[in-house]
Amino acid sequence: MDIITSFMTGTIGLIVLIVVHLVIGSFTGWLAGNKGYESTITWFFAGFFFGIFGLLTIGLASNLKYEKQLINLSEKLEKLNINDSPSETRKSKDTKNDITRCVKCRKIIPPDSLSCTYCGAPVVA
Ligand SMILES: [Zn+2]
Repeated sequence: MDIITSFMTGTIGLIVLIVVHLVIGSFTGWLAGNKGYESTITWFFAGFFFGIFGLLTIGLASNLKYEKQLINLSEKLEKLNINDSPSETRKSKDTKNDITRCVKCRKIIPPDSLSCTYCGAPVVA
């Protein structure tokens, strides 16, 4: 009986260990995929063999998806700046004609005034 019991606990212990590592491995692979890494299977094995250390490695690794989103966002912002430039050229054209417009009420004010003569808003150069 003793031999069987120790064999059983040993087997169960091994199965539990494998299951725990399978869970960690799956979670590591899932996290890697979630972070934008393509080698999900490699990360699964890393989590399976190194357990919590593999999970920590991917947990601390930089999020590729976030980085891609940041790059996309900065590109969009650059495009927005390009779209904004025509209004800037119009503004400089206004200064060429010695016309200054109030930022707040858009009324034409003397070019050398420091504040708007209509609403009193400060004039930004
Ligand atoms: Zn004004």
